[in-house]
Amino acid sequence: MAAYAPAGTQRTAAEASRQVGSSVSFEGVSVAYRGVVVMKPLTLNVEAGEILALIGPSGSGKTTALRAVAGFVRPATGRIRIGNTDVTDMPPYERGLAMVVQNYALFPHMRVEQNVAFGLNAQGAPRSLTADRVEDALRTVGMSNYAKRYPRELSGGQQQRVAIARALAVRPRVLLLDEPLSALDAQIRRAMVEELAKLHRTLPHLTVLYVTHDQSEALTLADKIAIMKDGVLNAHGPTAELYRRPPNRFAAEFLGRANILPATMDDNGATSGFARVRVGSASVLAAASMPSGAEACLLCIRPQHLALQPEGSDVNTLTGTLKDVHWQGELTHLVLDVADTQVRVVVTRPPVLPPAGSAMQIHFSPSDASLIPDDAHA
Ligand code: ADP
Repeated sequence: MAAYAPAGTQRTAAEASRQVGSSVSFEGVSVAYRGVVVMKPLTLNVEAGEILALIGPSGSGKTTALRAVAGFVRPATGRIRIGNTDVTDMPPYERGLAMVVQNYALFPHMRVEQNVAFGLNAQGAPRSLTADRVEDALRTVGMSNYAKRYPRELSGGQQQRVAIARALAVRPRVLLLDEPLSALDAQIRRAMVEELAKLHRTLPHLTVLYVTHDQSEALTLADKIAIMKDGVLNAHGPTAELYRRPPNRFAAEFLGRANILPATMDDNGATSGFARVRVGSASVLAAASMPSGAEACLLCIRPQHLALQPEGSDVNTLTGTLKDVHWQGELTHLVLDVADTQVRVVVTRPPVLPPAGSAMQIHFSPSDASLIPDDAHA
């Protein structure tokens, strides 16, 4: 982990900006390693106080974007701004950032409190200020009782909390988190995600860039999500909106399970925001933000938005053949064949189901379904 904060008189400015938060802007930023472009020009704005999750498959350029903000890689093109300051040519330690990485990177020979004080000591902060900040940071992450321990006397989750306390102690303008939970086992990871959410409620002005390949962490934590694919920004938007109305197939499938059905445009109601499409022999209404004129498109519906009983007057209905049923405790997954496409339905309390091979109707609200471009015909 590296933790940086402006030294000397600048510290006051960093603290002041922490109160109001600092935005982060990528303006046409591209990165190349030894002449190979791994991040194509990226333009993206992270608002002050926002948690932005950068997600995408391994190798898509998430860490590279984060390292460019931190100042560990130099962009080939473009500018990076933190607040109103152009930091593109600034060394890392002047940027007022802190970064936490996957493997904690605590100093094994130092006690917890010494680890947390490290960045402040490096800046030459007065001893009383350091003591206050260390206490404050440890309290924020719920580790006050562990100040005298060594890292080896802590669990993985506790070590990562100390790493976060060390980052917070320097009062960064922006916190960069690079897969901070991926070394932890699933149960602790879930608990830590909730703790990070709580942490941000305690520090609502802190801007956070959170790199993860785990979409559930992003959905739980982030105000906005940016999806990277092959070094290109594939989608960006408020978390719930992106989940509900993904702009393309990759985004739809990366954010969670999605049923994607081939459809043909019947009536592109460009003004109403809804369009009527044909799926097999059925005619259904769905939210449409696609450019008009595309005849072939895809209908996207999340499994939990499909119901076995019709609800409401404007409900859409599809008919399929029941193929399989998987009971998973709280949820039951049904697999149907609809217009030659496998469709998954997730319900909490299924009625008595007919045998496999039977025809079944499934229903959904137009506002729970969205139309996306058909990549094959794009
Ligand atoms: P992600 O964080 O999404 O997994 P990265 O940003 O780490 O992806 O990597 C993006 C691409 O850049 C990958 O193809 C990776 O192999 C390459 N890459 C990353 N770091 C270096 C480096 N120091 N030198 C050369 N190539 C690198």
